[in-house]
Amino acid sequence: MAQIELKALQKAWDDAVAVQDMNLTIQDGEFVAILGPSGCGKSTTLLMLAGLYLPTGGDILFDGTRVNEVEARHRNVGIVFQSYALYPNMSVLQNILFPTRSQQTPDAEKRAREMAEMVQINQLLERRPSQLSGGQQQRVALARALIKRPNLLLLDEPLSNLDATLRLTMRAEIRRITRDLGVTTILVTHDQLEATTMADRVVCMNAGRIEQIGRAEDLYLRPDTLFVAGFIGSPPMNLISLPHPLIEVPSIARTFGLRPEALRPAETGLPAQVTHFEPMGREVLTTVQTPLGLLRFLEAGTQPRWQVGDSLHLTHARDDAILFDGTGARIPNATALMTEQGYA
Ligand code: ADP
Ligand code: MG
Repeated sequence: MAQIELKALQKAWDDAVAVQDMNLTIQDGEFVAILGPSGCGKSTTLLMLAGLYLPTGGDILFDGTRVNEVEARHRNVGIVFQSYALYPNMSVLQNILFPTRSQQTPDAEKRAREMAEMVQINQLLERRPSQLSGGQQQRVALARALIKRPNLLLLDEPLSNLDATLRLTMRAEIRRITRDLGVTTILVTHDQLEATTMADRVVCMNAGRIEQIGRAEDLYLRPDTLFVAGFIGSPPMNLISLPHPLIEVPSIARTFGLRPEALRPAETGLPAQVTHFEPMGREVLTTVQTPLGLLRFLEAGTQPRWQVGDSLHLTHARDDAILFDGTGARIPNATALMTEQGYA
């Protein structure tokens, strides 16, 4: 188990910078998710932590000791990749034991069986990977990553190849196992639900940089940047460009954001016409055309309350509006209200 620190970490390729100025401290036993779109530098960060890529700038510290040049096999890091990367010609047991091959200790097999039990594949130890389902292969990969009691467990999009139901089960399973073992864990994912349901803290990345670090709730309710506001939340936040200075909106405001659940029909407010609706189980997502462009709001209910073409008015609490400046940074303590005319 270890505390992990990244200090101004950077990875530059000949033609591009994949990761820059990354500063992050992860507490011993903490579960952190690195969340961001494809290509933002998540896997590069993970491979530097694993010792498989050499940083081109900054430092990586394990329990206060700089490990930049420490080889992968001396870092004791467990990794699970999206592809699982199991050895096809080996049995499940041999796969789990593989990381211990160079220091065969008498209790390695005992530990392998314990890990197999923990991930609930102890009935499958003699099978080959090809005789396993995706979920079972994923469990083998996890047991293999944990057999050497790693200082750090790295998970790179580990659930992407699983179907939706299995993903739900494995999310909870992985969380239970890492908690039971107390292992410091970094999960890399582009799936916000995976990040927000599993992690103690979420690190939101974009284009090689950290946009925000916080609990899922902080990122959702108080996004630091326009990028985080748009990336976190499903259905996404309504974001409206402010082309001109508006009454009671700080003049530096350039974007107005409002969550779909914060917008609701009312007697007065912004005029709107229904263009589309999507039943989403216990809520209905309705899209409307307004003088400010297309907006979406969520209402409780299994059936739509509106028909396409219906006219209505929309309002919201002034405090629910989130305003961003021209650099994309959130303006603290700014409020605004949509009215019949636009904003007030
Ligand atoms: P993510 O895991 O977030 O999808 P990656 O860390 O894999 O993103 O990639 C980040 C950026 O670095 C991308 O633009 C990618 O093309 C680039 N990159 C990754 N690996 C290499 C490499 N070996 N050589 C050159 N560029 C790379
Ligand atoms: Mg990746």
